[in-house]
Amino acid sequence: MCGINNGTSILESPIEFLKGVGPMRGELLRTELGIATFEDLLYHFPYRYFDRSQITKIAAVNGLTEFAQFAGILINIGEEGDGRKKRLTATLYDDTRRIELVWFQNINWVKKSITEGERYIVFGKVAHYGGYYNISHPEIEAWNSDTNIPGRQPVYSTTEKLRLRGITNRSFAKITQSLFEKVKPHDIPEILPSAILSQYQLCNRYSAIRWLHYPDTEHHEEMARYRMKWEELFISQILIGRLRLQHTIQRGWIFDKVGGAFNTFFNHHLPFQLTGAQKRVLKEIRQDTATGRQMNRLLQGDVGSGKTIVALMSMLLALDNGFQACIMAPTEILATQHFNSISGLLEEMGITIKLLTGNIKGKERKAILAGLADGSLSFVAGTHALIEDPVIFKNLGLAVIDEQHRFGVGQRAKLWKKNELPPHVLVMTATPIPRTLAMTLYGDLEVSVIDELPPGRQEIKTVHRRDTARAKVMEFMRHEIDKGRQAYIVYPLIEESEKLDYESLMQGYEQVKMWFSEDRYRTAMVHGRMEAELKERNMARFVKGEANILVATTVIEVGVNVPNASVMLLESAERFGLSQMHQLRGRVGRGAEQSYCILMTGSKVGEESVKRINIMVSTTDGFKIAEEDLAMRGPGDMYGTKQSGVLKFKLADIVHDSAILEETRHAALALLTADPRLELPQHQGLKTTLRNHASQSHWAKIS
Ligand code: ADP
Ligand code: MG
Repeated sequence: MCGINNGTSILESPIEFLKGVGPMRGELLRTELGIATFEDLLYHFPYRYFDRSQITKIAAVNGLTEFAQFAGILINIGEEGDGRKKRLTATLYDDTRRIELVWFQNINWVKKSITEGERYIVFGKVAHYGGYYNISHPEIEAWNSDTNIPGRQPVYSTTEKLRLRGITNRSFAKITQSLFEKVKPHDIPEILPSAILSQYQLCNRYSAIRWLHYPDTEHHEEMARYRMKWEELFISQILIGRLRLQHTIQRGWIFDKVGGAFNTFFNHHLPFQLTGAQKRVLKEIRQDTATGRQMNRLLQGDVGSGKTIVALMSMLLALDNGFQACIMAPTEILATQHFNSISGLLEEMGITIKLLTGNIKGKERKAILAGLADGSLSFVAGTHALIEDPVIFKNLGLAVIDEQHRFGVGQRAKLWKKNELPPHVLVMTATPIPRTLAMTLYGDLEVSVIDELPPGRQEIKTVHRRDTARAKVMEFMRHEIDKGRQAYIVYPLIEESEKLDYESLMQGYEQVKMWFSEDRYRTAMVHGRMEAELKERNMARFVKGEANILVATTVIEVGVNVPNASVMLLESAERFGLSQMHQLRGRVGRGAEQSYCILMTGSKVGEESVKRINIMVSTTDGFKIAEEDLAMRGPGDMYGTKQSGVLKFKLADIVHDSAILEETRHAALALLTADPRLELPQHQGLKTTLRNHASQSHWAKIS
């Protein structure tokens, strides 16, 4: 989000020029919070307000109280404990009762900043210890009636370092006050068209920003927040809308024949009947590719829903129209798997597919490259090696991308340069994406969903077991393996570099080898610290059935297909996220056998973890799980969006603001329909904002 800079705008002034800042504080604000200009400070919104009207009496605290604000006199300031256990305590006393305050860090600084006998407003999370209450590390502000900040007082996020250097919340508030003495309404012009402001009853931009810092009433705060969230989401929807528009006017190859290969396969070589969902998706793809526009379609289907066959039949469609097709996967294992299953399916039809990865070298590689260049080779499966520069296609008509999260948008774009016209693109993902998230992340793609599993699948039985039942669990695994099945044991190595995690994985591996010491049990291990080659080799041993137990970290999460595996054991399951557990569980239950997922935890497990585990035990529906996951975690770190920055909203939150999101989507669509190039005079403010936005963010790289 950024405003309009007309070159000499006051908003561009360096922050140290603001009254009350100066060079030293300026430097601190820059390094600690990234606030370099007046404008940056303007967008550093408070995250809450001290509201003098919302004060709880201490006597009213009960077991249900969570966050609360109190006003009273501070007494009994003192230190307890020594060394690392040292803590500072104080008692806040109002005319009803007392409550204890406690600090474990920055004790000296806190001590200096509070005075016994003075009046304070205190805010924090109330902790309960059997009828006894305290607040640790509360926010605390002197409560003078002579303060010149009226009504609700902003609370800004600062850092430890800033506070230590005397930039407390109070001085922050003073700085923003002097900011608003300098910055006038004309410095913050409106960027939304007035028709939109009135249709959606949004307040103007200046008021919104001012009210966010200094809301005189709760109503104004709400209006301000609503307006700025609306703007953020609207801009994202306009950006997505414009991308989509570009796609729809992007010419593409016309696949208007459904010819020999497709029909022969469909009539004679399909190993099973397609599900209704698979048929529907194929129809959507056929319609897309016949229009003369480039297809950009996202295919969502839960693990095991049968996306591969859809990919293959789309490739046959390309072939029937005289084009080449490729299928790309993020890892060598997955690419090899696609290659194997597709060559198996094509065997009787005499159609060749080749595998191209970084490991395929020399003569073999040369031959593949030559075949792709002269068109004698129609199909290729591979890793990103496929989009490396030396690979030239004669006429690539379709690119299927599996497990898209690992393929950056930039890589997708690279594909387009392989021809005179870009190929049709089918992106497949097994991670169900909640609708609101899909709208922001993949709003530029059309979406198809396979919402039906092939018939005859057995529900994976999922249970939660404590460590104390380990012997029984191992006995159960032994029993399964003795029936000829295979089992996964997965450890939560969230940071592959984390030493403790690594050690517990190694210990776990040793233990597994002890539990399964007989010769008939063969164990393999893969983890992220391993050399890629060794990892692939161990993985391959399990895929081929040479090993019957795979001890692993989450590196196996995506896409691996070993239909004979029937047990997925997750160690320290409390540490896994919901979507991650769902992905891992999807590695079993791929064959005809009854499969099991065992979630192991210690005896002490946090509330949130129990909730996640219970969701896993109660449902196998990936969409339900994704929704729950989004609600519990927020979008911040789901689906690798953290790095992509797509969801970096300052105020909006796509879980709670989904209603606004819908609204802005409609508004963006209407606006772009009326004025696709934003040429109307009333859209110039918006256009400038988008330009600034694009030059600062990843959006610029997309097209
Ligand atoms: P995913 O969507 O996870 O990639 P796959 O394409 O690997 O799923 O399919 C999972 C398994 O289901 C494969 O063994 C595949 O052969 C099988 N399968 C796919 N579609 C059907 C169907 N319509 N009927 C029966 N089995 C199917
Ligand atoms: Mg798959």
